[in-house]
Amino acid sequence: MSLDTAKEQRGFESEVSQLLDLVINSLYSNREIFLRELVSNAADAADKLRFAALSDDSLYEGDSELGVEIDFNAELKTITVRDNGIGMSRDEVNSNLGTIAKSGTREFFGALSGDAKKDSQLIGQFGVGFYAAFIVAERVVVTSRKAGAGAEEGVRWESEGKGEYSVETVRRDKRGTEIVLHLKEDATEFANGYQLRELCKRYSDHISVPVKLPQTGDEEGYEVVNQATAMWRRSKNELSDDDYREFYKHVSHDFGDPLAWTHSKVEGKLEYTTLFYLPAQPGFDLWDRDAKQGIKLYVQRVFIMDDAEALLPRYLRFVRGVIDTNDLPLNVSREMVQQNKTLETIRAGSVKRILGELETLAKGENYEKFWSAFGRVLKEGVIEDSTNKERIAKLLRFSTTLADDPDANVGLTDYISRMKEGEDSIYYIVTDSFATACNSPHLEYFRSEGIEVLLMHDPVDEWLVSNLAEFDGKLLKSITHVDAVEKSDEGSAEDAQTDDKADDSDEDSVIARVKSALAGQVEDVCESKRLTTSPARLVSAGEQMSANLERLLQATGQDVPSSKRILELNVGHPLVQMVAGLEDGEQIGTWSNLLYDQSILAEGGKLEDPAGFVKRMNEAVVALARQGD
Ligand code: ADP
Repeated sequence: MSLDTAKEQRGFESEVSQLLDLVINSLYSNREIFLRELVSNAADAADKLRFAALSDDSLYEGDSELGVEIDFNAELKTITVRDNGIGMSRDEVNSNLGTIAKSGTREFFGALSGDAKKDSQLIGQFGVGFYAAFIVAERVVVTSRKAGAGAEEGVRWESEGKGEYSVETVRRDKRGTEIVLHLKEDATEFANGYQLRELCKRYSDHISVPVKLPQTGDEEGYEVVNQATAMWRRSKNELSDDDYREFYKHVSHDFGDPLAWTHSKVEGKLEYTTLFYLPAQPGFDLWDRDAKQGIKLYVQRVFIMDDAEALLPRYLRFVRGVIDTNDLPLNVSREMVQQNKTLETIRAGSVKRILGELETLAKGENYEKFWSAFGRVLKEGVIEDSTNKERIAKLLRFSTTLADDPDANVGLTDYISRMKEGEDSIYYIVTDSFATACNSPHLEYFRSEGIEVLLMHDPVDEWLVSNLAEFDGKLLKSITHVDAVEKSDEGSAEDAQTDDKADDSDEDSVIARVKSALAGQVEDVCESKRLTTSPARLVSAGEQMSANLERLLQATGQDVPSSKRILELNVGHPLVQMVAGLEDGEQIGTWSNLLYDQSILAEGGKLEDPAGFVKRMNEAVVALARQGD
């Protein structure tokens, strides 16, 4: 016997063992979902065969009536789920049922807390699939044969779900997969026709292949217990909310209910049906750039693919669902998808449909949930999708000075509706945290004038604002830039300007002295018309990159030199007045640097020489204390 037909004992990949423990411990109260997961896999296997058979009809082996059969034996305490789908080779069994080939797996396990209750929420997002069998079974036996392979290439996999499994090559005449669950003592209730029928009704009505159970009573044979039509092709008024929710679980592998959905049939030159879901919670792989997309493409009732980026733009990667059309060729490939005109039209229509659904959602309470789960992803749309930029921008939500609440959700339209008369700018600040934004010296003027400022504190916000110069005719302006309030300033500008001039010409002024002390470090030093309680702040010139963006780019390893900025001094502040009264050049130097460094700290920046700052500060404080003695 050659090595690859011999029976071998193998250990699960460590993540699988961890997952199994988690599944068994955390899904106990939800045990019946094992059936949904297995039927869902069986239906996917039928979909895959249908697709593969498009280019090779012989894969059907004379049997193109695809379906799923469920059997049970109360005496033997077994349940069997059988399909005549694509099947698996020995290698595939090893990799599919011995490892977890999901992107983001490591991160997922890293995120687990060890608290069963919390983790069971997470496990729902991860999707347990096949391993759900072990919730009810103490031993699982899988026999499979890949479509197109010889009968001697069957494979038998067996495990008690305790760290190990065995695989061996066996003879199997029928293609497809059979999974036998040897039920745990406390799960024998499932080996019961009535129970299974109820569960199948719930879990497989939306499955597009027939799901069969043994006939009830004394009759021989099987009967189909589900509708066995593609759920999304049925008309809306035939479908209940429960139907939609169940189908969602099938397409998304999410255990929870969706937040909303939109189902529509487009008729005209192009005909297609879409059913899109907005999940209530982010999946574990939301931030994984390689994660599969959650949209399945069906062409002429054949499942074609579910991981093509071209089906929806990346900023809608949280959407789950189905696109179904008869207007594409069956041989549409992943590569073709990128340039196919029909698909481009469908995609554009789908994006509009989803944005429309979000607009509807935005009118109700659920939008907050959506926003906290996916807002950060949607923001990418402003950058990615120039066609729908304005629509997406309307859906954005921010915290603002009005609420000083990190979770306050203020839209740009709300902001504009509250603008003061004559105001034509939307003011914002971007920092690295809500606290930094909220307490920023840059806000002092705006707070005192009662002008609302958007408090942005998400890394993507810098890119967002650099792609959103205006909204609804109003310019977006950063309050860390020097010319932010030109307009609203006109009234008070005159006297401020005369003061400035006086300062500049007076070599003894505090402005001139600090400026010469900080020569080389700052672009300029001037008197602030904005600060009320802080002694100083740093502002960027009009076209200059914001300091926050500079820091972000530097953090990603990009070679961005820190640019020199303008130090504004609050000449009415006691500290600045104290500096103005100093005689000693060295002390002036120390205090100038302290003012500069604290301005950097206040905006969340990093000092080049933090220890130097601490030393200077200590010396300065001690010197002051001595003076006081
Ligand atoms: P998922 O379905 O999320 O990929 P599962 O753990 O449920 O994860 O299954 C892992 C893989 O095993 C599937 O992707 C599929 O390739 C394979 N598989 C599971 N069940 C079947 C089946 N009945 N027929 C063929 N392949 C299957």
